[in-house]
Amino acid sequence: MMIIMKANATPQEVEHVIEHVKSVGLAVHLSQGIEATIIGAIGETHNIPVEQFEILDGVDIVKRITQPFKLASRQFHPEDSVFPLDGFTVGGEEISIIAGPCSVESRSQILETAHAVKEAGASALRGGVFKPRTSPYAFQGLGEEGLEYLAEARDQTGLPIVAEIMSQTQLELMVKYVDVLQVGARNMQNFNLLRAIGETRTTVLLKRGLSATIEELLMSAEYILSGGNKQVMLCERGIRTFETSTRNTTDINSIPVLKNLTHLPVILDPSHSTGYSDYVAAIARAAIAAGADGLIVEVHPDPAHAVSDGKQSLRPEKFAAMVKQVGQIAQIMGRRLASVQGEYSPTRQDWS
Ligand code: PEP
Ligand code: MN
Repeated sequence: MMIIMKANATPQEVEHVIEHVKSVGLAVHLSQGIEATIIGAIGETHNIPVEQFEILDGVDIVKRITQPFKLASRQFHPEDSVFPLDGFTVGGEEISIIAGPCSVESRSQILETAHAVKEAGASALRGGVFKPRTSPYAFQGLGEEGLEYLAEARDQTGLPIVAEIMSQTQLELMVKYVDVLQVGARNMQNFNLLRAIGETRTTVLLKRGLSATIEELLMSAEYILSGGNKQVMLCERGIRTFETSTRNTTDINSIPVLKNLTHLPVILDPSHSTGYSDYVAAIARAAIAAGADGLIVEVHPDPAHAVSDGKQSLRPEKFAAMVKQVGQIAQIMGRRLASVQGEYSPTRQDWS
């Protein structure tokens, strides 16, 4: 941490700041130039708030040199995190495509969709069974019944399953069924939930909050990582802006920014980031070109009758066309689409 003193700071003020730095267990590196005095505070600074120093007399600016998201940061882990997920890897050369309906609606709907997305080249199946709906009167999800249908779809196709968890009370049930716990945009800063998930060893897909900064997303990932759960992928799903012609605004910038700041895999959700099926393929292509490690896309066999997010859901044939285009862009980027072959064989992290 760098503490830059005001030009007119007195020697007593400088001395007082030095004492304060030492008192919190940090070493001091003093550099006294003609224009400014800079006090370097060296050591474990990530758990010390900058405000502690900002309020001291004579202090002008306090700057962190290391990121506050220590475990998620590339500074301490320069190589990309690559982890296995039931027959393919996330974060390496392979591009994972997670696809399926917004909500699991019935056994036949999820089985039909699972076979269709597998056929089109998806590497994992998504489907919400606990739905975060704006209205309490809207469909809230099938709960455990939906998880049973997802598990059956996994048995039939070999596709690992991804479903959203909304509360800690669902954790025990969810880890029994799913391969990836999705933390939705609305729960990105549900810190108790993040901590509880950090104690499990189930892979996590953490979505960016509607109005969360990239740093806030990384700090949320830090909650999970600090519990010892290392398999976290981050998901850009669009942010709220003044623009109303799409549901959200895809922050494509976040992909190279995240890839620069963190070693964790980064995927994009073009369904929620646009809100319209017509725009999904374009933004999916852009994401892979921008360096994303994968996609999560809503697909429904009959979008007009979907109970949630039909407007942004692709029909299976449109999804298949999108996968082909994405595959070509992946090749240009020196990557390839992940594909799941054969039997489902769960790969869980080591709990030791
Ligand atoms: C979803 O994936 O269906 C969902 C609710 O996403 P988000 O949390 O990004 O809104
Ligand atoms: Mn949805």
